[in-house]
Amino acid sequence: MMRNRIGIKLGVLITTAFLIVLLSLGTMVYQVFSNFYHIEMKTEVSELTAHFVAMCEETNPTSEQMMSTLADFSNVSMFYVQADGQIGFHSGPHDPQDRSFIRTEDLALLFKGEAISLSHTDPSGEGYLVVAQPLKKDETIHAAIYVMASTKHLDESLHSIRKLLLLSGAGAFLLSLGITWIMAYMLSRPLLQMQQATKKIASGELETRVHVNSKDEVGYLAEAINDLGVELKRYRDNRQEFFANISHELRTPITYLKGYAKVLQDGMVDSEEEQQRYLEIIHQEALRIEHLVNDLFDLAKMEEGQIDLYKEWVNLEELLEEAMRRVELSAKDKGIALHLKVQADLPLVYADGMRLEQIVMNLLENAIRYTERGEIELSISHDDDEVAVRVKDSGIGIPQEELEEIFERFHRVEKSRSREHGGSGLGLSIVKKLVDLHDATIQVQSTLGIGTTFIVRLPREQ
Ligand code: ADP
Repeated sequence: MMRNRIGIKLGVLITTAFLIVLLSLGTMVYQVFSNFYHIEMKTEVSELTAHFVAMCEETNPTSEQMMSTLADFSNVSMFYVQADGQIGFHSGPHDPQDRSFIRTEDLALLFKGEAISLSHTDPSGEGYLVVAQPLKKDETIHAAIYVMASTKHLDESLHSIRKLLLLSGAGAFLLSLGITWIMAYMLSRPLLQMQQATKKIASGELETRVHVNSKDEVGYLAEAINDLGVELKRYRDNRQEFFANISHELRTPITYLKGYAKVLQDGMVDSEEEQQRYLEIIHQEALRIEHLVNDLFDLAKMEEGQIDLYKEWVNLEELLEEAMRRVELSAKDKGIALHLKVQADLPLVYADGMRLEQIVMNLLENAIRYTERGEIELSISHDDDEVAVRVKDSGIGIPQEELEEIFERFHRVEKSRSREHGGSGLGLSIVKKLVDLHDATIQVQSTLGIGTTFIVRLPREQ
């Protein structure tokens, strides 16, 4: 099952790590305690044994009564063992019939003068610590003193420590399971949410949003998915609007083409002149379609980011003069005068010459298109940071409230006026895209009935 895969992985990992750490730590702590208690007890019993030995050595004859009292008092059993392994006398609770703790190899060591210690379990299963030391009299060893202390208390202490360790280990283990569960839940829940959201987005539900508010990697991922959704929606709406506009723009000239072609085909013309006029309309509409298709193609390429700039050092004055030459005829037809003003010491600009020319031509054609009389002035000025190109006309102007919108594709101030003038409604959006590609800016100022000025500011390459 897909759910909680991360949770399970994380859980197994953390729990295993926890178990390893807990087990080794627990064993270590237990070892330390156990060693400590054993050493303590051994020291104590050894001291006691030495005490017995000293008593035997000092009192002559050996005072069994005193030793017995000391043994009872100290809660141990004491054995006076001879070289042959026989018990001379003993005191304390331990049954002297059980003599398995007296081993010949130990006796050999003892009678060589060494002390020994061993653990012993009696027939009833009780554990003892046995310490034995040689008993010297007149420089010869003639017996050994065995002292046997029950390890019952020590075993009980160690048992309770073991219990405590196991209990805290189990507690820590449960805690780790709890933490793991919470972490896995916190981590996998938003991830599952995001997975579902991306699935929905992929299936076209572009309004889907992920609700994750954490300010961490998971939160950033959620934000990125939301941004992706917004961007995809914008792209889809844009594309739909684009296609709607294109079909609308193409439908009008095609209707004209069909209509006039049909009239001519059916011979419904009265004169040669009328026929010529219709043919002219058909030609104009065909030109318009061509213009529109070219603009559309340009714009589509730019929107896909497929346009590369071929930058070179460009002389703007020459470029503007050339553009003016190209529109000279249509300006003259409308009786519009063209002027060019250039500030002295004009620097070259580093830009794509062809694209700059496209910008200027578009602005210039619009200026002529929307000006009935008067003049159009082109000027170039510059300062340390930029070079500015102005295209100023004395035309019909643009209403203030539309100045922002004229750069949007297919936006026309008056639907009829642009068509009448042969525009596609795409010119300025192409200009805006080209300007952006150059890291330049475009600005427009206009007064209705007085005229319009477009200003393009190109940054100066350092
Ligand atoms: P079009 O091909 O219709 O001219 P543009 O994108 O070039 O499309 O321009 C958008 C609209 O901006 C035009 O339809 C027109 O209404 C307005 N416009 C552009 N330039 C001028 C200008 N110099 N004077 C007045 N109106 C203008």
